[in-house]
Amino acid sequence: MTYTAPLADMRFALREVAGLQHVASLPGYEHATDDTVDAVLEEAAKLAGNGLAPLNRDGDKTGARLENGVVRTAPGFAGIYKEFVDGGWNSLPFDPEFGGQGMPWLLAATVQEMWQAANMGFGLVLLLNQGAIDAIHHHGSAEQKSRYLPKMISGEWTGTMNLTEPQAGSDLAQLKCKAVKEGDHYRITGQKIFITYGEHDMAENIVHLVLARTPEAPAGVRGISLFIVPKFLPEDDGRPGKRNDLRCVSLEHKLGIHASPTCVMSFGDDGGAIGTLVGEEGRGLSYMFTMMNNARLSVGIQGLAIAERAYQQASAFAKTRVQSKDDGSTRPEPVSIIHHADIRRMLMTMRAQIEAMRALGYYTAAGIDGALKHPNREQARRIQDRVDLLIPIVKAWFTDLGNEIASIGVQVHGGMGFIEETGAAQHLRESRRATWWAARSPRMAARRCSAWWPRCARLPRRWRTPRATIWRPSVVLSRPPPTRWKMPRDGLPSRSRSSWRPRWQARCLSCASPARHWAAGCSPGAPSPPRRGWLAATAIRLSWRPSW
Ligand SMILES: Cc1cc2nc3c(=O)[nH]c(=O)nc-3n(C[C@H](O)[C@H](O)[C@H](O)COP(=O)(O)OP(=O)(O)OC[C@H]3O[C@@H](n4cnc5c(N)ncnc54)[C@H](O)[C@@H]3O)c2cc1C
Repeated sequence: MTYTAPLADMRFALREVAGLQHVASLPGYEHATDDTVDAVLEEAAKLAGNGLAPLNRDGDKTGARLENGVVRTAPGFAGIYKEFVDGGWNSLPFDPEFGGQGMPWLLAATVQEMWQAANMGFGLVLLLNQGAIDAIHHHGSAEQKSRYLPKMISGEWTGTMNLTEPQAGSDLAQLKCKAVKEGDHYRITGQKIFITYGEHDMAENIVHLVLARTPEAPAGVRGISLFIVPKFLPEDDGRPGKRNDLRCVSLEHKLGIHASPTCVMSFGDDGGAIGTLVGEEGRGLSYMFTMMNNARLSVGIQGLAIAERAYQQASAFAKTRVQSKDDGSTRPEPVSIIHHADIRRMLMTMRAQIEAMRALGYYTAAGIDGALKHPNREQARRIQDRVDLLIPIVKAWFTDLGNEIASIGVQVHGGMGFIEETGAAQHLRESRRATWWAARSPRMAARRCSAWWPRCARLPRRWRTPRATIWRPSVVLSRPPPTRWKMPRDGLPSRSRSSWRPRWQARCLSCASPARHWAAGCSPGAPSPPRRGWLAATAIRLSWRPSW
């Protein structure tokens, strides 16, 4: 089963929900014109559908292999990655100062949906690299930026994130990896596990971002620093030079994403891998979280992508599988299963949820652009606040839903869904990964809960204590946009155009007031608070008002 990017739906979400026109009017994004965006989407759709998607099944069957210390990626991966780099796809949203194309993150998120839907095993290398670029861009020195960013942005080199150790998963305070200062660099020793694309044969160098402790560092997360540890130490002319003291010891055998090598990495078996400090000592975790926030949006987009892929697979199967007569007809002959009401219910459930996810995902990505480029800094700060609220929702809700939708996809196939041959099972296996990666959803909910809940000052005391384990906002698409609207003569955003532009609004579930009321407390006479033990803090409503 192949993949066809749903360009019409994507364009709708980009333009009518996320406000592409607004984004394109921000300083620095003027080149994101309608024509350019359309051309990018169409070319990306071709590469995803014709290049990446056909490698998905074989990638799952063959997987990545470790041979004499070298990780061989699945057949065709190295070739398509080269095509990817040559086409400039990697550099789409990054800073032109370092070779990026400076396109909006909104467009990058849309294109990313295509890569992840077409081939999640491949898409992960892009996701990790993007996060590493972000961390270096925000916190690296001028020398680190000029040395690493151009190569990583072009995709010639890829980036990884090295947090997890056998004893330190969710609790990074347990981290033991060591970094000892030696002149102008550090010697890194220790083991990291579960490192996505920690070693592979697609790029000439791999830039590891590694969390480690210096000898005098305090215990806990405040003693953690971030280091750049490249596989090959770059020469002065920028070419990869001497091999650094790090290696992939083994590959994990996993439930899904077999094509993505998940590596056990050993640093410093021969005296210590050479690394350079990013920013200041002891601030590593906060720097890494720059990367994690970006990664969370992308992981959310993966949930959407796998759901779309599962939907396409299920609807194609439902059109061809003939079974049972149509209950609504007197004709005795069997029909394709898409005629059956329950199959249609499942398909429409999948589709409706996918469209809601796409709307919220793209809207959040547009918020990132607004926060970065809005000329009014106060307004930019407010947009950033909203993005900070939405990113955990996108991560947690999309990945849970991606999993549910992939499971419905298996159900639509009946017994064949359980048989690997159709591919439906692969989507379900792969969707499972995203729910706990880059922070598991319930933990993020609990954290968010402790940040927001105390602000409900007038709630009874028992409701101010976070007890939540699950955070499931609901998304309500109020109504479709008007089919005809007045185009302003000068073609610029105007009040009349913005009057139908959607706005996501957070509302308190206890009294349905907008989010701001949380700061002031529930209004007197508000109905009873949300059900005990649940964090039902937000409902997101899409109403047709100007966004920003
Ligand atoms: C395929 C794959 C790719 C990965 N890629 C990378 C990578 O590139 N880089 C990297 O550094 N890591 C990577 N990881 C590691 C991943 O980020 C961790 O698995 C994740 O952080 C969870 O850690 P853990 O597996 O040790 O689970 P644990 O921390 O042992 O948690 C076990 C369970 O307990 C729950 N739990 C833990 N603490 C709490 C709490 N306080 N409250 C409530 N519940 C809690 C967790 O949610 C989970 O359900 C990858 C893992 C896999 C399997």
